[in-house]
Amino acid sequence: MTVSVPQRIGLSPAKSCNPKLADGPWEFDALPGYGPGSSETDPIPDATTRPGQLPRAYQEMPAEQLHARIRSAKATLAERLVILGHFYQRDEVVQHADFLGDSYQLAKAALAKPEAEHIVFCGVHFMAETADILSAAEQQVILPNLAAGCSMADMADEDSVQTAWEEICEVYGVDPENVTPGPDGKLPILPVTYMNSSAALKAFCGRHGGIVCTSSNATAVLEWAFARAHRVLFFPDQHLGRNTAKAMGIPVEQMPMWNPRRALGGNSPEDLQQAKVLLWHGFCSVHKRFTVSQIDKARADYPGCRVIVHPESPMPVVDAADAAGSTDAIRKYVAASAPGEVIAIGTEINLVNRLAAEYPDRTIFCLDPVICPCSTMYRIHPGYLAWVLDELVEGRSPNRISVSPDVAAPARLALDRMLAAAPK
Ligand code: SF4
Repeated sequence: MTVSVPQRIGLSPAKSCNPKLADGPWEFDALPGYGPGSSETDPIPDATTRPGQLPRAYQEMPAEQLHARIRSAKATLAERLVILGHFYQRDEVVQHADFLGDSYQLAKAALAKPEAEHIVFCGVHFMAETADILSAAEQQVILPNLAAGCSMADMADEDSVQTAWEEICEVYGVDPENVTPGPDGKLPILPVTYMNSSAALKAFCGRHGGIVCTSSNATAVLEWAFARAHRVLFFPDQHLGRNTAKAMGIPVEQMPMWNPRRALGGNSPEDLQQAKVLLWHGFCSVHKRFTVSQIDKARADYPGCRVIVHPESPMPVVDAADAAGSTDAIRKYVAASAPGEVIAIGTEINLVNRLAAEYPDRTIFCLDPVICPCSTMYRIHPGYLAWVLDELVEGRSPNRISVSPDVAAPARLALDRMLAAAPK
């Protein structure tokens, strides 16, 4: 039996998780996004474009002409340009990328091209910020559509995390701006942020003895944290935090949720005293859709099939799957499978479709029967890519993502701690 795998996002409203995705890209862009430029409260460095404001000539240009312009601009800019494409990005865009990878691999790819003065990041805002923090001062990072944010990253803003930190530190009886180790040499608490967060939150971690993690190194990072602290405040993704800590043997009862809209996050002081991991109330709208019943159905339809899901999925889904891992781990899992195998995957549809196309001798399909791409990544259309590249050829730098030095320095500290704790 074969599975019909949709090859591209051109979604019928009946099959998509968001009926608006069936609209054309410009109609979709005209919808309110995650803030006018990026993550909700971040400043817009250069608001030369907004959703729906791509120059009309690019909106109306036939697809082949857009691709021809992209190829021409790439040839003109040559070594001065590097285009980075995220695994979840649509094929029409990633076909032009020099590197394809997850957010951290792409940030590092930018470092591998120091001669490139323009880094065009076909991902979302927090990824472009990280690339700017890690790249050389003379390199410019460009996000083709400033409305390409991340709904999960927007679920934890700097003010809410600062307020939470102050409340938590009060419970533990420590100065929030100077948390010092107790007699046993350990801190009462330490902040850990997922890579999918604003630069401001990475800087918060840098200033408070904390660290950044990715979905591929979260275990090593939590081990680093627990060597230094009794507890961790983990944001913004509750699921990655819970799944990782549970796999390390921490009971779920010691992982209270922190709801930023409630006093003490909705917890009692006693809850917080016995906590090991305080989980921020955040999630990925794509990965929270996966369910145990989808896994049951895959196994009923394909006895003997294997199931792998991303750790941003809910805990019962991770528990029911055969394996869980980052986008890179999922790629390696598929690569290590044998021809003829059936693999059901719980992650973003563009990556699943690409793997299905790459391994036509396996049956590879997405657990979710409803097509649900990352709708913020979807905002980067070849029209935006053609436009920013043409602008670069003309000597202009639209949509530049530039993290201010006072944020970049402590954010870099938290990223460097991650590199030292979990080299990749
Ligand atoms: S897939 Fe989820 S976490 Fe990843 S960029 Fe999209 S919304 Fe954010």
